[in-house]
Amino acid sequence: MLVIFGYKLVHKRMGRAADFCPVCCELSPFDICAVRQAFHVYWIPLWRKGTFAHDEVCDNCGFSRHINLSKYEAISRNPQAAASELQAETNPDFRARWKERLDLEARIRNRRINPDERKAMLTEGWMAVAEYAGPGQPRPRVNVGVGLWLLAALGFLIAMVIAASSGNLRNQLLIGRIFTACAVLSVLLAGYCLVREFVRFRSKNSYDLLAKCFERLAPTASEIEAIRSQVDPQATKQLAKLKSERIVKLIEQRKIRAGPT
Ligand SMILES: [Zn+2]
Repeated sequence: MLVIFGYKLVHKRMGRAADFCPVCCELSPFDICAVRQAFHVYWIPLWRKGTFAHDEVCDNCGFSRHINLSKYEAISRNPQAAASELQAETNPDFRARWKERLDLEARIRNRRINPDERKAMLTEGWMAVAEYAGPGQPRPRVNVGVGLWLLAALGFLIAMVIAASSGNLRNQLLIGRIFTACAVLSVLLAGYCLVREFVRFRSKNSYDLLAKCFERLAPTASEIEAIRSQVDPQATKQLAKLKSERIVKLIEQRKIRAGPT
């Protein structure tokens, strides 16, 4: 009988904190997770090893990165706290540490930046999203739901075999059909869980993050190409195939959705 087992990464949510998000370009709330390795059977974690890294995921845009937990004074357990409340509790020095950058963001909003600052901001956004899309970052994972439904399918198949070897022929056919239908339904539900996880992940793809990050600067396609040609191609190879025209189009769509400012 096929038993699926092995090790997988699991993210245990620890709480929330607030910091500057390089995609939202403002103070944002982050989910803080401990990253652990777990032994699994059918992707159901049975035994967890110790924490070997910490991740944070922006509540607003989905950007995530590895962090050193010591950058926060505390981790909040309040699931409802706004960004400013979280900042006061978890990152009290934020305003002082990010003063220069917050001033620059205010000048960007007032369209008072020079060409060098504009180029630096576009480059920074490109590098941040390249880091997000790079190796070691979160990937869509086969989740517990997939494992549970596959186990259910297996259970129905075993029950069908047992039922087929007992009782009269009419009952065997009826029970066989019922269990087969249940097994097929379980496999379909496992597939649904898998697809949903991939769709959820794709919704936070590099195009969307770049569009959000660049929206306040509204670059042209040729400006994006100029940035691409100036950054380290090895460090940003995850973005090599992105089309600058599509990023510009997504920015326009975001502006239309947001309405007149
Ligand atoms: Zn963000």
